[in-house]
Amino acid sequence: MTQRIRLLVLNAALGPLDYKLPEGCTVEPGSVVVAPLGPRKVTGIVWDEGRLPGAEVPAAKLRAILEVSPVPPLSEPLRRLIEWTADYYCAAMANVARMVLSSGGALGGPSTTTEYRLSGGVPERMTPQRAVAIEALEGEQATIRELSGIAGVSEGVLRGLVNQGVIEPVTVAIDRPYPPAEPDFYQPALSADQLRVAKTLVKAVEAQEYAPFLLDGVTGSGKTETYFEPIAAAIRMGRQVLVLLPEIALTENFLSRFEQRFGAAPVLWHSSLKSTERRRAWRAISEGTAQVVVGARSALFLPYANLGLIVVDEAHEVSFKQDDGVRYNARDVSVMRARFEGLPVVLASATPALESLHMAASGIYQKLDLPSRFGGAQLPEIQLVDLTIDKPGEGRWLAQPLVQGLEDRLARGEQSLLFLNRRGYAPLTLCRNCGHRFKCPNCSAWLVEHRLSSRLACHHCGFEGQVPDECPECGEKDALVACGPGVERIADEVSELFPEARVAIATSDTLNSPERTADFLEKVQNKAIDVIVGTQLVTKGFHFPELTLVGVIDADLGLEGGDLRAAERTYQQVAQVAGRAGRGSKPGEVLIQTRHTDAPVIAALANGDRDAFYAAETDARRDAGAPPFGRWASIILSSEDEREARAAAARLGDTRPHADDLYILGPAPAPMALLRGRYRYRFLINARRTANLQATIRDWLDAHDFPPGVRVGIDIDPYSFV
Ligand code: ADP
Ligand code: ZN
Repeated sequence: MTQRIRLLVLNAALGPLDYKLPEGCTVEPGSVVVAPLGPRKVTGIVWDEGRLPGAEVPAAKLRAILEVSPVPPLSEPLRRLIEWTADYYCAAMANVARMVLSSGGALGGPSTTTEYRLSGGVPERMTPQRAVAIEALEGEQATIRELSGIAGVSEGVLRGLVNQGVIEPVTVAIDRPYPPAEPDFYQPALSADQLRVAKTLVKAVEAQEYAPFLLDGVTGSGKTETYFEPIAAAIRMGRQVLVLLPEIALTENFLSRFEQRFGAAPVLWHSSLKSTERRRAWRAISEGTAQVVVGARSALFLPYANLGLIVVDEAHEVSFKQDDGVRYNARDVSVMRARFEGLPVVLASATPALESLHMAASGIYQKLDLPSRFGGAQLPEIQLVDLTIDKPGEGRWLAQPLVQGLEDRLARGEQSLLFLNRRGYAPLTLCRNCGHRFKCPNCSAWLVEHRLSSRLACHHCGFEGQVPDECPECGEKDALVACGPGVERIADEVSELFPEARVAIATSDTLNSPERTADFLEKVQNKAIDVIVGTQLVTKGFHFPELTLVGVIDADLGLEGGDLRAAERTYQQVAQVAGRAGRGSKPGEVLIQTRHTDAPVIAALANGDRDAFYAAETDARRDAGAPPFGRWASIILSSEDEREARAAAARLGDTRPHADDLYILGPAPAPMALLRGRYRYRFLINARRTANLQATIRDWLDAHDFPPGVRVGIDIDPYSFV
């Protein structure tokens, strides 16, 4: 009898495929296999019988799979997570599975690889390109392709150097083990509050049961030190831990603290890992030898062999929401993974998402509080600067009280942080003569001037152009004016006011690698920087003991625009950045510049009245049927052809479902009507919690055939409303 197996293949266009097993070959659900597909090969996962619906291939036509990959089969809880994620987010299971099998190299192949490095030799003939390469590759070791990226020269140039022996191959064992973390390497003395929380979490790890926690601790309360205890407990039990962080920039800081506590680095996972590092990490994770994995949201879907705990740090962060491909929220999926696997999950934050607080209030999450800062540090004093009264001068952005605050800090040798969530020099450039505004050719967005790199750039699609000498519209020379501030412009203003001050800009443009982040942190630590001007990148996670002043340049910025969570996000951002002040022995002060001193969110920040803010926001959400009381989804149809997108949206609109428990807005041009060269039309769906939102959407869309040029994006529980 032939044994029929059904595969989930990693290609969403194919659907489930049936195969048979060759003589003597055994598999189980979750086994990763390679199967023939026409003349090609596909990777697939053997799926549980009856759980992947689809037409059956007649037995006579079944082809045999080619091989079983030498990796552990995906566990049952992980298979259920793949199904749940695809179902909940209206995504293809294949695309979710691709996030699990996210290192192609790890699935088979040899356990060694060849990397290249400088040998110390010199080429027979030196060319400018070769010189560049040799200089850039000092101390580097990677594949030729990666080295080519690092050095900025072609792979051909590097191969030439290999032929001459200037670059030499090295054989690297991919699966060499990671140094072990020691649970008792350094045990800090915990405060009474920390100890209470840590004990609860350690117990939960030992119980090995599903238990969701909301760790609600003020900034500087030592949430990290506290959740290190359940991590230690998991290590002692031989179980793995996953720590999710919202930004790679935060990992540097986390790594050094982790090493102090556990005597070894954790295993890192993020999108810019070298392929060999990725492969090594994936294999160690799947075999259970990677003890603690720290990563961005994509680490959530890895095939941990025996996970014992998940921690989501800064759990309120919007970057846990993925906005393309499978549009999932890593915070929410973490809780689902913990549920399927039967283990504790800790959502840690000083400013939890309203949804998370609601779950705690409903008794679904257990709330653990750290109400005060560690070591007796006080929360900073917060003051409003009313920009309608204290007006900065023409072309200036710092009001007098903030200038005074900076001056005092500089005189005392203390540090300041100015927060403005805008990269670059100015968000808009226009011609003084004809009014021409510089727009992105691919997006409904202004080009942002970056003076550091003398470029006009689009922050949505990456388009870049030079800043021209004359207006492209009217030809007038030297007529371009920068409108509004970005961090570079604020930094200029500080330098003009205080020429002696050492100013650093901290954004994703300047802290774009672990090395540069580490360098920046070291400079701040050594007091080689007086004033940091930064975006949201520096608002959270960092601990700068000498920083005593935080200035928020424009607290109203986030309140503009039609974002459903605008008030909450503003609250979180300002509270987080405020939390950077006064974390050491010296008290901190926070100055918030605003034109709306009586807006509820601004008033709540000034009064430090978080409960009042959340209560008012909860009421507003309830009235609007917004999460957590109701649900939203968006459907975006896009095409490079405006008419095609509009027509497809109109046709879909004609068959909209009607139901009592949900209503559908649109189609209308999306706020970003053009993005990366595609015209976008949007439907917004607001549903009661009782509605079967996903099934309704699936039935509605499945009845349609869209032209090949039209893309359909479904976003369940969207965070982005553009
Ligand atoms: P949070 O993440 O809650 O804002 P952190 O975890 O960054 O706070 O802690 C703030 C500072 O206090 C850090 O420098 C941390 O190392 C220190 N700290 C917290 N708890 C302890 C402890 N029990 N022993 C020693 N240092 C601690
Ligand atoms: Zn663009």
